[in-house]
Amino acid sequence: MNDQLTVLSHPLVGHIMTELRDQNTSPHQFRALVRKLSMLLCYEATRDLPTVEKQVITPVAPAQGVMVDQSKLVFLPILRAGLGMLDGALELVPDASVGHLGMYRDEETLTPVHYYTKLPPQFEGRGAIILDPMLATGGSAVDAVEKAASYGPAWIKFLCILSAPQGIEKLSKAYPDVKIYTAAVDQCLNDHGYIVPGLGDAGDRIFGTVG
Ligand code: URA
Repeated sequence: MNDQLTVLSHPLVGHIMTELRDQNTSPHQFRALVRKLSMLLCYEATRDLPTVEKQVITPVAPAQGVMVDQSKLVFLPILRAGLGMLDGALELVPDASVGHLGMYRDEETLTPVHYYTKLPPQFEGRGAIILDPMLATGGSAVDAVEKAASYGPAWIKFLCILSAPQGIEKLSKAYPDVKIYTAAVDQCLNDHGYIVPGLGDAGDRIFGTVG
């Protein structure tokens, strides 16, 4: 088993995934389901965040608590489908920064084209969490990690709703330090690079641009 990989294993995650896969699920429902799964993925991915102690006074007595420095976290959605995961991630860590990675792969040269990049200028001591619902071939995941790494974050994690074995292998071989969090791993890719059985084109289903 790949120790870079965390697959959410929970009956409710299975339930949400089943609703998400269903072709009869509307964009409105689909967005809500992606948001829920993104929160759960983010919950797992932030398990090892450092905390500092803080004392507060409850109505009853002083209590020793802990706080997370949320400014040490940067979410990086890959446009456009990654935007669907952003709300759920920010729900959990509202004071994180957000950078945007607009990119696609040139079909002929197979090189990544970064048509829009807007990241916080200061990455020192901050962790980056890349958001992209589908880890399919792994091509854009590797390109996104390369771009994020060029800004020098303390660490990088990759969150996706659904993944294919090929994508997991490609990303983990290229970047063994990048931890991957996914809600499910499917069987394979078809000839068009879609995950099988998958859920179709995540961006189209989030934004209602199907067919
Ligand atoms: N991107 C998608 O949106 N769906 C897939 O199945 C693969 C890549």
